[in-house]
Parts: sequence; C-alpha cells; structure tokens
Amino acid sequence: MKWTKLMIQTLREDPGDAEIDSHKLLVRASLVKKISGGLYTYLPLGMRTLNKVAAIVREEMDRAGAQEIVMPILQPAELWKTSGRWETMGPGLFHLKDRGAHEYALSPTAEEVVTDLAKNIVSSYRQLPATLYQIQWKFRDEIRPRFGLMRSKEFLMKDAYSFDVSLDAADASYMAMFNAYKRIFARCGLKAYPVEADTGDIGGKFSHEFHVLADSGEDGIAFCDGCGYAANLEKAERSVSKRDDAPCPDFEEVHTPGAKTIDQVSAFMGVPGSAFVKSLVYSADGTPVMVCVPGDRDVNDVKLRHFLGVRKLELADYETVLQATGANAGSVGPVRPACTAMRIVADQSLAGARGCITGANRDDYHLKNVDLARDTRLADADFADLVVAQTGDICPHCGKTMAIRRGIEVGHVFKLGTKYADAFNAVFKTDDLQEKTMVMGCYGIGISRTLQAVIEQSHDKDGIIWPSAVAPYQVVIDLLDPADESVANVAAELEAQLEEKGVDVIVDDREERPGVKFKDADLIGFTVRVVVGAKGLAKGGVEIKARKDPKEAMKIVPPAEAPAAILELLASC
Ligand SMILES: [Zn+2]
Repeated sequence: MKWTKLMIQTLREDPGDAEIDSHKLLVRASLVKKISGGLYTYLPLGMRTLNKVAAIVREEMDRAGAQEIVMPILQPAELWKTSGRWETMGPGLFHLKDRGAHEYALSPTAEEVVTDLAKNIVSSYRQLPATLYQIQWKFRDEIRPRFGLMRSKEFLMKDAYSFDVSLDAADASYMAMFNAYKRIFARCGLKAYPVEADTGDIGGKFSHEFHVLADSGEDGIAFCDGCGYAANLEKAERSVSKRDDAPCPDFEEVHTPGAKTIDQVSAFMGVPGSAFVKSLVYSADGTPVMVCVPGDRDVNDVKLRHFLGVRKLELADYETVLQATGANAGSVGPVRPACTAMRIVADQSLAGARGCITGANRDDYHLKNVDLARDTRLADADFADLVVAQTGDICPHCGKTMAIRRGIEVGHVFKLGTKYADAFNAVFKTDDLQEKTMVMGCYGIGISRTLQAVIEQSHDKDGIIWPSAVAPYQVVIDLLDPADESVANVAAELEAQLEEKGVDVIVDDREERPGVKFKDADLIGFTVRVVVGAKGLAKGGVEIKARKDPKEAMKIVPPAEAPAAILELLASC
C-alpha cells in the first residue's frame, strides 16, 4: 500500500472531547472519525485493525467449537417483551417503530433472538450441546457517550450463547469459552485478567469479566498479589479479624446540631469516621430494613441484595425512614424502641463492636458508647460481608493484603442457567423422552473496545505501539527519496518480498521531510519502521527499528538481509 493512496488525516492536536490517551490517539492517528456523540466512522487504518481483532476472535471461537451465525440488529419488540427486558433494560435500549407502527429494538445483545432460535430448531438432547456466536454491531442509548469507542452508542461485539442439557454440562461450555478468551486476548497482545463477577441468581463461580488494567479504567477490581484472587467490586469479598473491643458504659445522647453526614458529625465530635456505625434504611421488596456498616465504608448493594434474598432493593424514601425510625436519614441508628419493628443487618466487621457512635433516631442527636450486642437486636445471623472492598482489605483466600486497581472490561463470560430458556419455553426431549429446559451461557467480547484497550495499554508520548498481530500495517517503509528511482526500487522490492511472506506493508512515498514521516509513523505506531534512503544505502543498507523500543538505535541491514531481519523483529512484537 502507498501512503499517497490512503484516506488518512493525522492530527498534531488532541481532539477537544477526548479524556483518555487511547481516545486521543484513535482520532489523531486517523483510525476513526467522529460523526456525532458516540458515533464513529472507521477509517481505512481503523478498519484494518478492527478486522484483525475480529479475525482472531473468529478463529478462536471456531477452534472452541462455536458456530458462527448472524442475527438481525433490528429485533421485534415481542421477543423483548417475552424476556421482560423491554421494560427492565429501561432507556438504555433503543426503541423504534416501522411504518406499520410495529415496535422494534436495536439489539444491545441477542439472548432473546438466539433462545427463540434454539427453541425452534432443537428438539432432542442429541442436538446439544451447541454454542452459537455472531460478530455484529450492537447499540446502547448511552446517557453520556465518552472515551471514544469505550462508551459509544454503536459498537462491534462478538456475542456467543451456549445451550446444554444440564447445569453440569453447561460448565464445560463455559470453560471452553473461558479458555478461548484467554487465547484471544493473548493473541491481540493484551494482558487481560479474568476477574470474578457477580453471578446473579445462579450462584457459584461461573461469571468472569476479562479486564485490561489501566488507570483510566472505569471499573474497580480487587486484586491479591499473594494468590492471584481477582474480583470486581460488586463481587469482591474480604476477610475480617475478630474484634476485641473493651466494654463501654451505657450509651448516652450527644447533641449534634446540623451535622448530617458521617464527615460532619466526625468533625463536630472530633472522632474518626471508623468509630461510627453508618445506618441506612433500605426498602427491600417494599419492606424497610436497616443496614449498618462502619462509618468509613460503603454498602455493597449487590451483596446486600443477595444476603437479604430480595429482588428489588433501593434506599427507602424520606417518609419511610421517618416512619420506621422517628428521625431523618442523617440521624438514624439501630438502637432504641423506634427500631424494634424493623429488621437490622450489619457488616461482619461490626460483630462485637462496642463504644461506637450511631444516630439516635432523633433529629440532630447521636448516641455514643453503643455496644451492638448489648444495645441492639443484632444476632449472629444478621452479620455478613456487606461492604465494598477497598485497598488494604484482607484477601479471603490467602490472608494477604488486597489492592483496588482500575480496569477496562473487554469481555464477559456468564452462566445464565434457565432464565431465558424458561421465558421462551426452550425445551428438548431427554433420552427417556422427558421434557427438559435448556441451560444457557452467554459470552461477550467488545471488539471495538478491545481495539481501543490495546491502544490504552500500549502507547507512549509519541503515539500508539501496535502489537504485530493487530497493527493496521505491521511494517512502514519510510521512503526518503521517492524521486530517486534506484532508492524507490529498493523500497518496492522490499515491499514485495515482505508481502510475499504475508507481512502487511505501507510505503510512505510522500514528498515530505523525514521528520514528518517519522512523527506520523510513531503516532500511528506501525510495529516495525524501515527507512530506505540514498544516505542509508550509501552507508550499506536500510535502517530497521521496532516501534516498541524507542531508545534503541536504528539497525543498518543490507537490503538482501532486510526481509529476514524484519520478520525476526516482528516475531518479537
Ligand atoms: Zn490472596
């Protein structure tokens, strides 16, 4: 490929709306062009990388035994109403109507369509297991599209769905995808970590997100360097040591006028936040429940919902709080008759807590010297791990200290159980002709997001550093004297030799100063740069260099030896 024939426009300035490096570089290196918020055109260079990521995904899906299909993006509302997601997805789902006023959704995933498909095709256990996948554009009505391709309204995703005869059989389908994901990200040159995620109602250990670590990541992950435990913040557990608090005198009321938050009361009383018991009233399936956690921690709503065994959980409204406790939200606590009617649960780290400060269930008052065992109705069964993990927490598996890191989610494998199969009555006949519901799993990889994650993980101040496998072109030949026929011939011959070996090459044949060509080559980040010029040839050869080693000097290689040297360099990138 000749640079002068390429539709390209590199930029020296960062786009105004870009907050993270990978977004800036995507635009500056002319991989994508924004149309409007969350919508991008993939330019030729971007399309090449996108196709390369997709090809790796496709190869590994096929290798794992999954079968490729394509489902429509435009999906009838009836299917979405059958699953209930027409309502539960809320405004994130794009809705539209055709001219006959029939309703449709623009697909964000395809559980409904694929379950309906399996229900109609599969009738016998002999047709199972089966895993179907597609690489298709998906849509989400993001409130605030940002971070380039990370949070866009339209994105390319590989979604796969497995169908099995039983929960046990589904484990094998799950593991096949799990292992395929590890290969896919490694082949893309990404360091992606499987991270335990919430399994919803299924339970067990069959939900993993794959994360690329990056300071700009939107998701927090608890990591243990001791044993490798990794879990997202919804899921991350921690272990706590048993408390040995000294006995305290009877609790007494303290006037705390105007102090509502823990920070305000803590400043007013001159006591650290950790000495407080933070008490929040939730509405759990409509019933008020008080939840107590240490004053310096946050309630983990997912853990709380599982512990209470309820479907709908939200902070109770002002009136409910007042009715249940006699006070407003800033002054509630687990003590006193006001709370006798309400269930109280507490974080495990509060078991045995004495001498704490809580709200007094009287506006503008708090209680000090509260002993949770003595002064509340909390029994052993009411304590559980209910808080969001934070750096410094103890790993539940090995006892070492965990740290919270930031990650970009690039994939998710999830055991669905019979959630969708039940809704669609997707059943099959067993060998003794019993009717049984299929067990499903779903497995997504954001392909456009993976492309950007590669950039986020692999760049420097000058630009992108593409791993060879997904580079738009693996080699750039900077032709310094395009008008000099003998020099141009050396470049053309090298290009032909490399292409014959299956290497993608672009020749920068512009009438530009070398500095401009080098800057663009570094910005776009082609894996290997080759300089072919009259000066170099006079010195005995062409100059080659890997993009990933900016400090290393150019290596001069005779033209005849260049293809082998370049291939060797590519193999190490
Ligand atoms: Zn550990």
